[in-house]
Amino acid sequence: MSLLPRAASVKPGEKFDVIIVGLGPAAYGAALYTARYMLKTLVIGETPGGQLTEAGIVDDYLGLIEIQASDMIKVFNKHIEKYEVPVLLDIVEKIENRGDGFVVKTKRKGEFKADSVILGIGVKRRKLGVPGEQEFVGKGISYCSVCDAPLFKNRVVAVVGGGDSALEGAEILSSYSTKVYLIHRRDSFKAQPIYVETVKKKPNVEFVLNSVVKEIKGDKVVRQVVVENLKTGEIKELNVNGVFVEIGFDPPTDFAKSNGIETDTNGYIKVDEWMRTSVPGIFAAGDCTSMWLGFRQVITSVAQGAVAATSAYRYVTEKKGKK
Ligand code: NAP
Repeated sequence: MSLLPRAASVKPGEKFDVIIVGLGPAAYGAALYTARYMLKTLVIGETPGGQLTEAGIVDDYLGLIEIQASDMIKVFNKHIEKYEVPVLLDIVEKIENRGDGFVVKTKRKGEFKADSVILGIGVKRRKLGVPGEQEFVGKGISYCSVCDAPLFKNRVVAVVGGGDSALEGAEILSSYSTKVYLIHRRDSFKAQPIYVETVKKKPNVEFVLNSVVKEIKGDKVVRQVVVENLKTGEIKELNVNGVFVEIGFDPPTDFAKSNGIETDTNGYIKVDEWMRTSVPGIFAAGDCTSMWLGFRQVITSVAQGAVAATSAYRYVTEKKGKK
């Protein structure tokens, strides 16, 4: 199986019924359905799988029991390959609304025309923004516990955050590292209780609560993380070899705004229950949207992609019917 089907057949300037921007679960869900609706579809994205590339074993997608995320991506690819949907590895820089359709401008391959667009562009990892963070990326600072945990075997690490990612990360790291500090700015957690309970039982995990990271120090690699207790004001330095920043994601507000698409107060792309954005003909699905904020799963993204495809189908059919 080729990883990316039929990309070579796509020519700059070509017109599609729908262009799907993104390559995560929402985009795959959308592509499956636009293909089944027999819409001429092009998918443009950077990384097959999107955020799924950073996951380990997935066990909350109905029907795929304890599947490795990498195998899940292969299954998703295989499914849209069956429908011969072309996938282009490129970056979409701009979507121009020409009134009678859209022009999607990419960084490398040029521009493509479409009657409708589905955005499954996901979110970007949030940074701590403290001294030392930038300097030590790849030298002890990681944004993906699932990906990098094995590199910290028999080391001491800190995980920052209190959501599912941080707790899941702390659990994974506890089986590689000798000691794991879980640094969280509050004393209650956003994460699912099952994750919190599991991590609490790990003897080598120490909770550092009501605390924020002030600085990350080191020489060639990370050596210490400086932490302030927000209740007592106490500052302490923890000796660590690694810091895993798992503090969530920022929405693609700039991309939306620069393309005239409305966002909600949090900066996520505003959609209605049919995944319609504020721009007629542009739909959005998955983590980039305002839909079900606080519950972000592969299964919900795929479902939203399918709904967006249905809306695109109705939109394109109606548009063609008017001609
Ligand atoms: P999240 O749910 O947004 O949690 C981010 C955490 O980081 C929160 O605890 C937050 O603190 C903290 N935080 C945010 N900004 C911070 C800052 N500047 N400094 C210190 N701490 C900060 O993000 P996530 O855990 O990455 O999860 C993202 C989505 O993916 C969620 O919907 C989650 O359910 C989903 N997810 C699911 C699974 C799974 O089901 N297996 C696994 C991973 C992720 P506060 O609590 O104080 O706000």
